[in-house]
Amino acid sequence: MSNKYVYFFGPDHTDGDGSMRPLLGGKGANLAEMAKIGLPVPAGFTITTEVCTYFYANGQQYPQELKAQVEEAMRGIEKVMGKKLGDTQELPLLVSCRSGARDSMPGMMDTVLNIGLNDKTVKVLAEKSGDERFAWDCYRRFVQMYGRVVLDMKPKCKTDHCPFEDLLDAKKKKAGVEVDSELKAEYLKELVVEFKAAVKAQTGKDFPDDPMEQVWGGVGAVFSSWMNDRAIVYRRMNGIPHDWGTAVNVQAMVFGNMGETCATGVAFTRDGATGAKGIVGDYLFNAQGEDVVAGIRMPHRIEYTMAEELPHVWEEFSNVAMILENHYKDIQDVEFTIENDKLWMLQTRNAKRTGFAHVRSAVDMVNEGLITPERAISRIPANDLTQLLQPVFSGEGLKGRTPIAKGINAGPGAATGQIYFQPDDAEAVWQKNNNAKIILVRHETTPEDLRGMKVSSGILTSSGGAASHAALVGRQMGKAVVCGCDSVKINYKNETVSAAGKEYKKGDWISIDGFTGNVYEGEVPTAPSEVLQVLFEKSLHPKDAPIYQCFQQLMSWSDRYRKLAVRANADTPYEAEQAIALGAQGIGLTRTEHMFFNHIEEFRAMILADNVEDRQKALEPLLKYQQRDFEGVFRAMNGRPVTIRLLDPPLHEFVPHEAKEQEALAKKLGVTKEKVAQRVKDLAEFNPMLGHRGCRLGIVYPEITRMQATAICRAAVNVMKDGIDCHPEIMVPLPGCAAEFKHQEGVIREAAAKVFLEEGITPDYMVGTMIELPRACVTADKIAENAEFFSFGTNDLTQTGLGISRDDYGTYINEYQELDIFAADPFQTLDQEGVGELMKIAVEKGKKTRPDIKLGICGEHGGDPASVKFCHKIGLNYVSCSPLRLPVARLAAAQAAIADKQ
Ligand code: ADP
Ligand code: MG
Ligand code: MG
Repeated sequence: MSNKYVYFFGPDHTDGDGSMRPLLGGKGANLAEMAKIGLPVPAGFTITTEVCTYFYANGQQYPQELKAQVEEAMRGIEKVMGKKLGDTQELPLLVSCRSGARDSMPGMMDTVLNIGLNDKTVKVLAEKSGDERFAWDCYRRFVQMYGRVVLDMKPKCKTDHCPFEDLLDAKKKKAGVEVDSELKAEYLKELVVEFKAAVKAQTGKDFPDDPMEQVWGGVGAVFSSWMNDRAIVYRRMNGIPHDWGTAVNVQAMVFGNMGETCATGVAFTRDGATGAKGIVGDYLFNAQGEDVVAGIRMPHRIEYTMAEELPHVWEEFSNVAMILENHYKDIQDVEFTIENDKLWMLQTRNAKRTGFAHVRSAVDMVNEGLITPERAISRIPANDLTQLLQPVFSGEGLKGRTPIAKGINAGPGAATGQIYFQPDDAEAVWQKNNNAKIILVRHETTPEDLRGMKVSSGILTSSGGAASHAALVGRQMGKAVVCGCDSVKINYKNETVSAAGKEYKKGDWISIDGFTGNVYEGEVPTAPSEVLQVLFEKSLHPKDAPIYQCFQQLMSWSDRYRKLAVRANADTPYEAEQAIALGAQGIGLTRTEHMFFNHIEEFRAMILADNVEDRQKALEPLLKYQQRDFEGVFRAMNGRPVTIRLLDPPLHEFVPHEAKEQEALAKKLGVTKEKVAQRVKDLAEFNPMLGHRGCRLGIVYPEITRMQATAICRAAVNVMKDGIDCHPEIMVPLPGCAAEFKHQEGVIREAAAKVFLEEGITPDYMVGTMIELPRACVTADKIAENAEFFSFGTNDLTQTGLGISRDDYGTYINEYQELDIFAADPFQTLDQEGVGELMKIAVEKGKKTRPDIKLGICGEHGGDPASVKFCHKIGLNYVSCSPLRLPVARLAAAQAAIADKQ
């Protein structure tokens, strides 16, 4: 039997179903599924992704069987619709050609509508439909779309003109009308002739008249678009493999542009910005396809007016939305067309949504009995939780400010930044400074703007509704989005935008509030998120905080499932309290050097001492400070374990480098400025990250380790005397061999024993080590002879494992990612194949020597979802990350545990 490359869908029989996404693409699989469950879907067929793969593997040729299968399927559509493609006697069948990858991809080919029209069929269409304007409107759209998309006449850069748009504008001017729906048939006829002439002029070829040739042109263009630049960029940003391929859908046309009882629309079955229940969306009368999202006319909002304007459709549509949600058990993002009061469904998919909408809808759906908590947990992208913790505009910050404009609140979040109009400019600014704060201001956005949107903090558009590209894609990226803000007037040429009677230039600061849709002049100060106001600031009551309530529900479910404990990296009592509020079960890393920076004078005296006695003396005041700081952290953690890392960075980081500062320091210490300068010079290293740091400091200057261990133990004893439980875990940084650790352990235990003997209290404490050198990983069995715990310092382990300096990799990392050499930034998400393998070795060897060894991670990766899942897999006991990433870690850990069960 030959391969099946074409899958039919229609009211009477449908080959595929919703589970066949890899083969049929998301759009095709869902069209099949909708047809199967009896929803009104125009008949059509899907050419599989295998054909795309074949196409690229075989010099852009199709498999031999394809032609016959496509033709047979086309006959199938004709039978269902009772119309024939290219019919010059009766109403002709028209079709659309639509791309459809496994996951919806905004970078793909635009859909071509009204395929099958030519100078003959258009006349029949006009005659038989009794609507000449409609027929010619379809035809001019078809030539325009086909020219743009299939014949590649799309403008190549922002300053390029689109010949079709220019001709259309000229025609509107000539006709004296504002919008294209007002153009009469005679003008549309002229336009078709002019469009075709433009095609001939630019491509040198005649516009194809044969309907089947038109279909094949569309199919070929879809497959070719798989490898275009914006599709590649999108796949890279979203981790979609390049070899998945796209499917092609060919589908009978239904018409939203056949008069005033016709419309085209897009909707979400629940709000994709907030997750609130109820359909939201836009529809536009007498329009076709993407008109509704293209910002040519302001669409109507379904939730406000459809029940009144189209009562029958509204009734059917609400019913279809409910059927779809119950069927897919998720928010659906649907596209539909209304032809003479009849609803046709053209697409459904799980809606892209903000972190807010993810959490709210998942929690609601559990409470509605639609899904289980497991499913709710599993489907929320853990990283999106950070959106719920981001600062907002409120209270004090907004005092005395009035908005200069208000648009649609399409992407929640508060963003402040400098105005840029061109995505290229935005990207260039960001390239120079990754911390640049940018607000991209545009009429509307398109897939070409992706790179510019990615580097912006917020996006403001003057047209386009709640379902516009800016809204959907911007908020999916986690950006604050205000769209459809038609009171702001943008002038791209002068690079200005005016609002409330004032003009703002490129580079001026504005602020946009994606919760309310308000736009403000200048930089508006932010306030903590609702979640933090409840949990940490305690300035908001939970019952007044709906976002918090959903968040907390999700977290409590996650905590029920996860096996990994979560800890925080926190250096101060303030951070410790924040961490507990966000669910920390301990501290995985307290960096003592932060404390030294607060007492830098004394610390510098210690560094400058050139004999043991002087150093000893200089350490005395430091001991007191450290002890006090540790006590603060212990008290805040109230019995939870606290890992404290001994001094780690090279001493050079602490000394003054300017002559003036050196002189001042010399005066203070009563030494010559030459001596200070000399010591600073002595401490300089070519490669400080591989220099005299970590345990190497404590080995050469054991009195530093002794002081720190003493401070920790005295702090623990003091806290315990106040009846607070305390479990210090003293951590030695950077050993590469067992002997280094053993040396330091000896110093620590001796100091500890002394304190405990003096005080008569022995806290439950541990001595363990950071694992952050490859050598430590492969000799972990030996290190574990003395170390009671390991904590993976994956920042340094990545630096030393890959031989890449985190401080200098900016010059080539982008290149590496563009070339797909690194799938991700190894300092953000763990290189599981390399660094992860080293960790596995260390886990295995460590456990062999000490089966109950406590294992954790305290590198940046401890808050990255993929890395957290890896840590779960290799059997760590906990992950530790910065306090604000704790919810992400809790959710990711639960996801890992649930995935195990399945
Ligand atoms: P995208 O993937 O960019 O959303 P689609 O293939 O969904 O592109 O097509 C965009 C729009 O074109 C649809 O939302 C719908 O309005 C219109 N469209 C596509 N196919 C048809 C059709 N067969 N009949 C009527 N309209 C169609
Ligand atoms: Mg689209
Ligand atoms: Mg679509």
